[in-house]
Amino acid sequence: MSQNQLKTKSGRFLKNTLVAIAVALAFIGGYYFATLRSHLPTETVSAQSGNDTIHRESEKTQLWTCSMHPQIKLPNPGKCPICFMDLIPLESHDHGDEYAGATQYSMSETAKKLAEVETTSVKRERAFVKVRMVGQVYEDETRVAALTSRVDGRLDEIYINFTGVHVDKGDPMVTIWSPTLIKSQVELFETMRTGEEEESVIKGAVEKLIQYGLTREQVKEIREKKKPILNVTLRAPISGVVTKKMALLGQFVKEGTEMYIINDLSNVWIKMDAYETDLPWIRYGQKVTFTTPAVPGRTFEGRVLFIDPMLDTKTRSVKVRVAAENPDFTLKPGMFVTAEVEAEIDAKGKVIKREWAGKYVCPVHPRDEASPVPGICPESKMALRPASSFGYSDDPNPEMPLVIPSSAALVTGKRAVVYVEVPGERPTYEGREIILGPRADDKYAVYDGLSEGDRVVTKGNFKIDSAMQILARSSMMNPGESKPVSEAAGKEEVISKLTVPEPFLKQLTPVIETYLSLKESLVRADSSEAAKAATQLTEKLKAVSTTGIDKKAAGTWNKLSRTISARATMLAATQEIDKQRKAFDPLSETFAKMVMGFRHVMSGPLYLYNCPDAFDGAGAYWIEAKQEPHNPFFGDIRLKERSMLGCGDLAETIPPEFGPQAAKEDSAGNTPGARHEHGGGK
Ligand SMILES: [Zn+2]
Ligand SMILES: [Zn+2]
Ligand SMILES: [Zn+2]
Repeated sequence: MSQNQLKTKSGRFLKNTLVAIAVALAFIGGYYFATLRSHLPTETVSAQSGNDTIHRESEKTQLWTCSMHPQIKLPNPGKCPICFMDLIPLESHDHGDEYAGATQYSMSETAKKLAEVETTSVKRERAFVKVRMVGQVYEDETRVAALTSRVDGRLDEIYINFTGVHVDKGDPMVTIWSPTLIKSQVELFETMRTGEEEESVIKGAVEKLIQYGLTREQVKEIREKKKPILNVTLRAPISGVVTKKMALLGQFVKEGTEMYIINDLSNVWIKMDAYETDLPWIRYGQKVTFTTPAVPGRTFEGRVLFIDPMLDTKTRSVKVRVAAENPDFTLKPGMFVTAEVEAEIDAKGKVIKREWAGKYVCPVHPRDEASPVPGICPESKMALRPASSFGYSDDPNPEMPLVIPSSAALVTGKRAVVYVEVPGERPTYEGREIILGPRADDKYAVYDGLSEGDRVVTKGNFKIDSAMQILARSSMMNPGESKPVSEAAGKEEVISKLTVPEPFLKQLTPVIETYLSLKESLVRADSSEAAKAATQLTEKLKAVSTTGIDKKAAGTWNKLSRTISARATMLAATQEIDKQRKAFDPLSETFAKMVMGFRHVMSGPLYLYNCPDAFDGAGAYWIEAKQEPHNPFFGDIRLKERSMLGCGDLAETIPPEFGPQAAKEDSAGNTPGARHEHGGGK
């Protein structure tokens, strides 16, 4: 893209028409083109060409790709991590267009210290993917009994008058007056009188009474008293809770009439909803821990018993049934629970259950014990099945996955980038696109792109990434210069910082304030205020004059402000909060890089926050004026998703320039890399 083209395009953009938006999009394409990270789909990006001047490759390396999955671009030959086909060499003219290859950034030891760059070694270690589910307690459907009348008769007494009552096996439930029962008792006395010797006849009469619902104790009593009982008491067949009462005083019941339903709640089921995206980690037999707001402070345990093979297409969720013991009856049907399953994974992302590896298990008794040989479960009489048939790895010595701290991965859309420390005279970092596995607690599993022992940047990586983009922009405006990135940085006090005079930074204050009010509108899910603030943001950006700042900084400013404006225009064009938030994600990221590159003269520091869970785990960045995250990427805080409001990891503290706080760069109290946790409601 030549300077002339740039001028033409920016001229059109200022007309603020639909055409201008399209052109602006092309700009963003060109802008992200030069970078490792892109919010735009590959198609948009690859439509661009002729951006050679902005490439910063210190060396040309052969890359390998998959003919079926062109997004795969790896430094070494091998198998495609998605389909396991052999990789083919990537054509050199493609090379570097979307993938910047060995893009390196180096800085002085002082700059490294000021930027607070920290690295850690890539390791193989046990990794547990945590899946959260919500659900409700239900009765175990295999532990339900009905008290049914086995004779015709009249209910003369009702002992259990309402549902919810706990009864023990044998407790009286009703008394029944039944001519059939009286007749059967009389028959028993007759057999006793006439044939003392004929035990089998007596036995037949006794069994008849038991068939009619009397207990052996009751029959014994009748035999001893030798007098028929007119009103016979019917007793609870099992211990449990009465969940249904149909019996009415004075009611005539027939043989087969159900009078009560009793649930044995010493074991319960939890019916959970699992998201489609979490299904790869849920397996029969996994231990589930859960809590309920009804019993604060206590954690319960269960086992996955059944995973519904059908997906609810409306909610994109699947029912997961968990069996839990409930010996003290604390769990009651209807209680809401929040549950967590931990799936251990191996290097390829296969789920592991060490106790079961290569063994056979009962399909209805999910216990840790497993049989080394096939057989039959003595309780269920069902054939044992190989654990692998439930989706577990069969390997008794599974290879542990490569893991990196989650703060090391910069995730945007489908891509993930890490900065790896490479040997050099000065601290040097190389941007690498990697294939991420699932998130495991505060770590990510890595399927490809890193090796054991590589040192990845865990802190300061956003700064390095932002420096790469800002400096690439500078060089684009000055195509004659092609110095190594670190030298182009000029003054190296803080990496990526451009030196601009105070009056310029003063102009940024209203821009930052408008950004903050736009962000707060999104926190409140107020789409009409957000649209207004976005329009204001484009106006405030336009009002900034680059008079008095050097050509390089002016060029960088123009590029960044156009990108932010284009996104703000898109945001303002819709009233749908979800679309606004999608537009805000790249806007906010570019805005953050702008603030980090130019700095500011606000009254206090600004804070860069990251929520790695936004956009299905792609993550998102935003700027706060206070050291307290107000997450703009999740639901309406006035409603139920309140707990997401406070969700955010502090990634950087950006102190003001020229003010009293200006020198506090390296003591600003950053706490990035802290464990990211949801549900800490504010
Ligand atoms: Zn493939
Ligand atoms: Zn069994
Ligand atoms: Zn979050």
